[in-house]
Amino acid sequence: MVSGLYLHLPFCLSKCPYCDFFSIPKRPDEELYLKALEVEINLKAEYLIRNLTGSKREILTFYAGGGSPSLFSPSFFERFFMILERYFPFKPLELTLEANPEGFTYERARAYREIGFNRLSLGIQTFQPKGLFFLGRRHSKKDALSAIEAGLKGGFKNISLDFIYGWKGQGSSTLKKDLDLALAFEITHLSFYELTIYPETPFYKLYGRKPAFLREKKLIDLKKLIKDTLSTAGFMQYELSNFTKPSFECRHNLLYWEVQPYLGIGAGAVSRIGNLRFKNTEDLKTYYKSLLEERALPQEILETLDFKELAKEYLFMGLRLTKGIEFSKLEELNYKINEDALIYLYKRDLIDREPERFRLTDKGSLLHNQVVKFLWNNLERLR
Ligand code: SF4
Repeated sequence: MVSGLYLHLPFCLSKCPYCDFFSIPKRPDEELYLKALEVEINLKAEYLIRNLTGSKREILTFYAGGGSPSLFSPSFFERFFMILERYFPFKPLELTLEANPEGFTYERARAYREIGFNRLSLGIQTFQPKGLFFLGRRHSKKDALSAIEAGLKGGFKNISLDFIYGWKGQGSSTLKKDLDLALAFEITHLSFYELTIYPETPFYKLYGRKPAFLREKKLIDLKKLIKDTLSTAGFMQYELSNFTKPSFECRHNLLYWEVQPYLGIGAGAVSRIGNLRFKNTEDLKTYYKSLLEERALPQEILETLDFKELAKEYLFMGLRLTKGIEFSKLEELNYKINEDALIYLYKRDLIDREPERFRLTDKGSLLHNQVVKFLWNNLERLR
């Protein structure tokens, strides 16, 4: 089954210094992009028809990400959905729009809602002016507050706020202010990502790979503060960085963590079908040129996973989820984890076990990467 459709819209008003997403600092040409997308949808629909049978081509979730999708007008999406419906059985249960606070008005929120979006993910990052300045964001605290109000008044009942923690100068009290202010709104979902410095970003050039903005112990305190505050407010942690009110988990992102198939459309979009993960060209000129001349779209194969690599991917992604992973998932791929290794982790309070699944404990989730690497080294073939 394909399950999820991801649309990449790689345009932003400027480039944030920590960002490693594919995005170009300029306003989009909606007409040109839509024309190219239409050709790509046709090609991808043919690909799916060749590779999957009827019901398996059903799209259950749609996610417009970027970049800054909210730079695109509601009518762009309306026309995009009309094109999709010509090629796919397109009746998704969840349609998410990523939006930046600047320029996100009540009128726009209402229009996005009216054309079918039912989930809004707002990139707040922090409400603190010094944090916004450090992160190079274009919006102010006031913009962030009015964007949340616009979303609510515009009819969104499922709103997620994205935050970044661990920036230079942040402490428990500034983080608590962010948490309290977020919780003052009727929102359903929150993401808290630790600031990470990626190669080739301006932050990497400025600060290097692992700058100590905050000491390790402080970061652990901040993680605990996030978890405790949100749990008291009725939010359940379901992934390392994601918290939800009951039944508002992001279904689309769950596809990534559960290593399910999804199709990516747009310049730089990534797809996973079967054991293949591939990416559209990030060169916008090549993207337009190939599609408008109806030539094959240059795609980079990121991974052709054999069973062992798929098992490793299940471990890496699945252990991000608080429900953990089922042993049977690995067995289907003809792999299991060495029993002594599981006992070793269990005795050190790094994993919890049930007969059919295992998950990271609170202590284990602070060491996600190390535990996963240890498990990779202890994967055994069944037959
Ligand atoms: S707005 Fe988002 S996608 Fe655009 S540059 Fe900033 S972090 Fe990257």
